[in-house]
Amino acid sequence: MNSYNNNTVRVRFAPSPTGFLHLGGARTALFSWAFAKHNNGIFLLRIEDTDIKRSTKEAIKSIIDGMSWLGITSDEEIIYQTQRMDRYRELLKKMLKAGTAYYCYSSTEEIEKMREKARKNGAKPKYDGTWRPELNKTLPNIPEDRNPTIRFKNPSTGIVSWNDLVKGRISFKNEELDDLVIARSDGTPTYNFCVAIDDLDMGISHVLRGDDHVNNTPRQINILKSLNVKIPEYGHLPMILGTDGEKLSKRHGAMNIMEYKLQGYLPEAMVNYLARLGWSHNNDEIFSTEQLIKWFDIKHLSKSPSQWDPKKLDWINSYYIKNKDTHILASMIIPMIVEHNYDPNENDLNSIIDLFKERSNSLNKLAENTMIFYKENIEITDDLKNRYIDEKTIHLISKFIHMANKIEWKMEEIDRIIKTIISENNIIMKQIALPLRIYLTGETNTPSINKVLFLLGKDKVLSRLSKA
Ligand code: GLU
Repeated sequence: MNSYNNNTVRVRFAPSPTGFLHLGGARTALFSWAFAKHNNGIFLLRIEDTDIKRSTKEAIKSIIDGMSWLGITSDEEIIYQTQRMDRYRELLKKMLKAGTAYYCYSSTEEIEKMREKARKNGAKPKYDGTWRPELNKTLPNIPEDRNPTIRFKNPSTGIVSWNDLVKGRISFKNEELDDLVIARSDGTPTYNFCVAIDDLDMGISHVLRGDDHVNNTPRQINILKSLNVKIPEYGHLPMILGTDGEKLSKRHGAMNIMEYKLQGYLPEAMVNYLARLGWSHNNDEIFSTEQLIKWFDIKHLSKSPSQWDPKKLDWINSYYIKNKDTHILASMIIPMIVEHNYDPNENDLNSIIDLFKERSNSLNKLAENTMIFYKENIEITDDLKNRYIDEKTIHLISKFIHMANKIEWKMEEIDRIIKTIISENNIIMKQIALPLRIYLTGETNTPSINKVLFLLGKDKVLSRLSKA
């Protein structure tokens, strides 16, 4: 029995480490965490690693790394189910003694036959209760050489129901629930049993999890009821659908959450975006993690599935990049610049970032834009050349080279020669700016060309233009 204060909100995230942390899991973790923090409660991480064959160390690492990237950490030591086997055994014994669990010696073949029979009679395939002890019932003789499973003695009548925090009242008829196997014939405890016992021992007050668990909840409630303990409140989150409206697939967002980091998303953008997948606060689209915690009420969790929208994620990410301190952005992209063998100090990196942070929807795009200023050569596609470069533009560029050669490399001087070229040749700004953009950056769209020229520096400008 736990000794937690009954009024403390204690919430857990309980992933099975059979794969990396994906969006759905990250959102469950985030909502559980935000709910705990909103209620001045405790957030816990429990690794459900009893499926030894499918659980991996890499998956555990990916879960912990992914969560900590998002700023979500366990307030207490991480619990691993594999380390709790003694406790499960102790409770199995207790339940056997109390008569709320019983040994079942039916063989796999026998059980298959029972199910088959039920199916034939149009009933739900179910264990027929051969070994279920009842008052005045004589049980069969125990077969030799057969290790029994342990089954939970589920109430045979009545209903089990709860007020789901998200979906409202949910009820199941007890007669529809099987006498669940809670320990296999090799003695290992099974999934629903472990979850119920862990929630009990961890003093969990609220369980938020995916709605693929709705069918497990009545079983877990019945197990906890049989132990005469307090039952947590449950809330089941509708799933996240992919861009195609189907279950999230790898192509439509179901990647390792750390992939998003690699692709240049900021964790605060990811948190903000994930929070909006199935939860809302008025019409607010942009909010900080502090605001999320302050506002995170269960009432505004959506009852219907949400849809993954990468465009919106990009939009939110651009917002956060645009508003992030330039020095911090610099520290984030310097490793990428170094990885390309450029020396970040060779240029005025902060000014370059200032110029581009308004127009980059990821850190990677920002780094890519920045590196235009570090490269020796710029590639210009034939398509761009064919579309935008002709004799007239070449003539204008030659003039520019000629004048640029003579000036001191200052913003005012650069402004002056561009203005002179415009007026002397009777052209508009775009007619000189566009070819300069193409030759200097390989792009048709850049921030102010004057600033680009200035930051590139005289040498690079002249060498790129002369080569062209
Ligand atoms: N381990 C389960 C899963 O990864 C979650 C169990 C729970 O939250 O109760 O789906």
